Amino acid sequence: MSLDATHDPKLKSWVTSANGHAEFPIQNLPLGVFSVKDGPKRGGVAIGDRILPLADAVPHLKGLAKKAAKAGAGATLNPLFAMGPAARQALRLGLSALLAKGSEAKPELVKMKDATLHVPASIGDYTDFFAGINHATNAGKQFRPENPLLPNYKHVPVAYHGRASSVRASGTTVRRPNGQRKPGSETEPSFGPCRNLDYEMEFGIWIGQGNDEGKPIAIGDAANHIAGYCLLNDWSARDIQGWEAQPLGPFLAKNFHTSISPWVVTPEALAPFRAAQPPRPAGDPQPFPYLWDDADQAGGALDVALEVLLLTPAMRKAKQEPARLSLANTSHLYWTFAQMVAHHTVGGCNLNPGDLFGSGTISSTTEDGFGALLEITQGGRKPVTLPNGEVRRFLEDGDEIIFRAHASKAGAVSIGFGECRGVIVPAA
Ligand code: MN
Repeated sequence: MSLDATHDPKLKSWVTSANGHAEFPIQNLPLGVFSVKDGPKRGGVAIGDRILPLADAVPHLKGLAKKAAKAGAGATLNPLFAMGPAARQALRLGLSALLAKGSEAKPELVKMKDATLHVPASIGDYTDFFAGINHATNAGKQFRPENPLLPNYKHVPVAYHGRASSVRASGTTVRRPNGQRKPGSETEPSFGPCRNLDYEMEFGIWIGQGNDEGKPIAIGDAANHIAGYCLLNDWSARDIQGWEAQPLGPFLAKNFHTSISPWVVTPEALAPFRAAQPPRPAGDPQPFPYLWDDADQAGGALDVALEVLLLTPAMRKAKQEPARLSLANTSHLYWTFAQMVAHHTVGGCNLNPGDLFGSGTISSTTEDGFGALLEITQGGRKPVTLPNGEVRRFLEDGDEIIFRAHASKAGAVSIGFGECRGVIVPAA
């Protein structure tokens, strides 16, 4: 993926708020779905603190870019995702020219603060991976201190099929789930509100063009099937999880709610921030050929900083800033996004446009970069003290978790993902 005029650090927009904007400068141009008041859901592109509805871009575009804008103008981005990378790239070139300083046309924009942002695609299927190796190690240590990673980890990109119906946009409140709990300290299971509610900082991957059943996506082609990225909070009920997941994977502990940031940051916007996959440590097994591609290893990873913040009711009341719980980076993923796509389909499974993957919790190697309270508080045994003196083992009602992410590099304009936030409300 090469850089072009849309990445030029000198490029400025006639939308003045975009110039120097920490999230959505003209070099980003993420796609999403929004509505205003009781109006319909519409596709749009973020520029500074405004949204350009894609339908209003159509008259100013030509050829494939025009077709792409029409496909993305409706209530979901699935038709645009289905068109694949060439259409998305043409749309980016067209939108960049239309929003750049010097453009003759200046279509009307919507103020982002007046808009509601929605889940941008109709998600047929959602799959959650486990590719954050430090998280897998830290979580495994709680059960197997000597041998935290299971023997399959470095051979198989481990995942489970999640629940698409409860993937919700940032800002939607998160209801504490009820369920069965049986901690080791109790002899019988009980039913009631989750006591150990947690978050998981993950990267979300939007699938573009799918594949036919029985026709796996080759690793070398896998990147062409990714439409973009978002932030994803895989809210997790640790007590429910500990009891129900014997022996199968997550069920009610995860299916009550997943939050995503609403803007789809495209592979093109992230092109300046591509990185080599960190070399596999000496002694790690060589993956099977269907998981290995030299070009993917050389440039298939991303360098994106990931931040988790907590705003408690007491902080909100005192008008304090949220407290940072961690700062990590996408470089801590053991498997690349292309490896996830190739593995998902190798047995014949068909992906569809608008399918969503979670990367797995991303943790750095040190405590200030752990992506879940499970790790920060060692399963609740070591409470974390916040700057205002409050203490948390797990999340309490009224707590809000906020994810942010930014990509920066010398010689490029930094871009952001916008926020992924959710406030916990009491169980029903
Ligand atoms: Mn997860």
